[in-house]
Amino acid sequence: MGKAPAVRAALTRIADAALAVLLAPACACCAGPLDEPTAGPVCRGCWSSIVPITPPVCDTCGDPLPSWRVISVERSRCPRCRRRRGAVTRSRAIGAYDGALRDIVHALKYDGRRQLAQRLGARLAASAADLIAGADVAVPVPLHPARRRARGYNQAADIARSLGLPVLPALRRIRATRSQTDLPASRRHANVRGAFALAGRVEVTGLTMVLVDDVSTTGATIEACARVLLAAGAREVRAVTAARVVSRPRR
Ligand SMILES: [Zn+2]
Ligand SMILES: [Zn+2]
Repeated sequence: MGKAPAVRAALTRIADAALAVLLAPACACCAGPLDEPTAGPVCRGCWSSIVPITPPVCDTCGDPLPSWRVISVERSRCPRCRRRRGAVTRSRAIGAYDGALRDIVHALKYDGRRQLAQRLGARLAASAADLIAGADVAVPVPLHPARRRARGYNQAADIARSLGLPVLPALRRIRATRSQTDLPASRRHANVRGAFALAGRVEVTGLTMVLVDDVSTTGATIEACARVLLAAGAREVRAVTAARVVSRPRR
């Protein structure tokens, strides 16, 4: 280690200690004391308590699969994805929308803890490495302009910037929609139908695109976005979300 990094590390330790004493900042998830405030608003314990969705997963929607289904099958799909072919070819998330991951997404979206997006994006890039490999661009799911103005940022765009792909804001939301989480699953597709359009004159022909959002519930929003991109000439649309509302594997 050279001298400068050592000095920087020492200064960071001093800053952490000073901030911890002076401000006594609390973790945005567990409200416990934050030992390393300079490392962000969520404590190490909360980050490490995130339970990742581990293989075997359905390659199409990202749901966990019961292990017996995938013996010797390279790319496996859940019964629902085998029945119905959607616009999105592959999906992945860091983990289920639950526990610390849910709290972190909430802090990012509703509590202005914008710096959380970077670490979420890095975790997501690792979870979805095979899906991001070979893709051309990341496309954030857009907020309605009114909501974007009120929040000051689009959390999906912030996450997208940490995936290691060029970010192309290829979509815009042309209709304000109710939050998908407020609606029963049966109404979510109708809620987002016609809600998205291509953003101006972006050229997407032949591109393999990765849609990015914070949470996927039924996948209806992602699906609506993917259809717009495919209709505009995209070659393939994949999707990554920080968290996913997981359907339990059925046997
Ligand atoms: Zn915590
Ligand atoms: Zn599936």
